[in-house]
Amino acid sequence: MVISICQAVVTYVPLLWFVRVTDGMPDPAQRDLLMRQEAFRQTGGQVALTATEQKLDAYLHHLKEKEMSAAQFPPAIHFFKAKPLIQKSSIFKMLQKMPKGAALHIHSSSLVSVEWLVKNVTYRPHCYICFTWDNSVRFLFSDRQPFPRWDCFYWQLLETLRAKIGDPTGFDNSLMQHLTLFTDDPDGEYPNQDVVWEKFEKAFIAAAGLITHAPVLRDYYYKGLGELQLDNIMYLELRSGLSRTYELDGTIHDKGWCLKTFQEVTKKFIEDHPDFLGARIIISVHRALSVSAVKAAVKEAIQLQKAFPDIVAGFDMVGRENSVGTLWYFREALSLPAEMGVTLPYFFHAGETDDEGTDVDQNLLDALLFNTTRIGHGYALAHHPLAKELSRKRNVAVELCPISNQVLKLVSDLRNHPAAVLMSEGHPMVISSDDPALFGTTGLSYDFYQAFVGIGGLKANLGTLKELAVNSIRYSSLPPHLKNTGYAMWQNKWDAFIVDHS
Ligand SMILES: [Zn+2]
Repeated sequence: MVISICQAVVTYVPLLWFVRVTDGMPDPAQRDLLMRQEAFRQTGGQVALTATEQKLDAYLHHLKEKEMSAAQFPPAIHFFKAKPLIQKSSIFKMLQKMPKGAALHIHSSSLVSVEWLVKNVTYRPHCYICFTWDNSVRFLFSDRQPFPRWDCFYWQLLETLRAKIGDPTGFDNSLMQHLTLFTDDPDGEYPNQDVVWEKFEKAFIAAAGLITHAPVLRDYYYKGLGELQLDNIMYLELRSGLSRTYELDGTIHDKGWCLKTFQEVTKKFIEDHPDFLGARIIISVHRALSVSAVKAAVKEAIQLQKAFPDIVAGFDMVGRENSVGTLWYFREALSLPAEMGVTLPYFFHAGETDDEGTDVDQNLLDALLFNTTRIGHGYALAHHPLAKELSRKRNVAVELCPISNQVLKLVSDLRNHPAAVLMSEGHPMVISSDDPALFGTTGLSYDFYQAFVGIGGLKANLGTLKELAVNSIRYSSLPPHLKNTGYAMWQNKWDAFIVDHS
């Protein structure tokens, strides 16, 4: 990286030493230097842009000024209402074309758009549906009439049901509503975090019967990689519980089968799309489990990582942090790998909360004490100075998922997202989408838009975008030689993107 004389001065001279209290007009030159020093510290502040990149940066700045002064500013509005505005944005269109590197925080149950699930998967033969007492749905593929279950008394063959219903489009739309949080009236439907999380968990359960059908799972992974690649993403780290997968005759496959399938599908996808780098799995378990169940899950994850070292990246705990066990609660389970003398990298969700000072709020520090490789969300990190320092020193990146934080009601106007502090300090960070299908997004472009335009504001520039994209490879779980391949592939794509936009 080329460092100019000005940058060198800004970096190495302790400017605050020069700052004196004066009564009169502050020294404009000193003011200018201080402003440069601040800009130098932000995410991407040390990225040297080429002349062509600087031209594009100036254009982006101009576009951003225009969007920020418009009557409606998308990052200030709930994403469900802002989505059509974002789709019209010239910045967004450019972000879609931009090579964004890797998606490091996506959950497998929400990888593929619900439109595909409904329009493609539910139209496949042998698909049964059941409407539950709590206004949800379950799906099941079966070669015979399924038996009643505690949550599902009456299964209907979808093909037959559709033939009876006069309005297939309306019916399909109603099915989609069960599988996503997306709605025209987010404030009315989701008045608080409890309500939105309840719908969130329900949608996951509703989708499970479709996704865990073995033939669907193959197509689902392939389609998911395809949606990412269309959004110019070249690598994925997918959090997955590796749910038991079933065949039409009721045969059940184990977790190893799931990983093998994932491996095969990824390989096939790379054969078909040589500019895609690959995908790995972060095995995740739900926080609602008991300590002994998590102990078993940790042991199993160790075994699976041994059996699939190229595919299994590590381990995480998922589910709403506020409702169930904290990391400290599971400390006996989480210290097992160290006790057994093995390494199981952790990728903990932590600090996805606005309940300051509670036990849950301590998850951040505990995640770091358990040597987490990255921090999922880290929404609370800005007010944990020590955890922040530790994460910075150890290069533990925060996986920032702006739209998820807004939809799950941690912040309404994204300009007020605490990650603005982290970005202004150049804290290690990557951008991700968490649950794209549930939030009605695809790929990472929507979240990049919110981070770049809303959280970063006018001072976030092309250097910021470049650093965020490079970070996604830098902070991935890939071994060094594959990271180098990733950097080289990304740089080629980036150069082409700059040429296309100059
Ligand atoms: Zn998540």
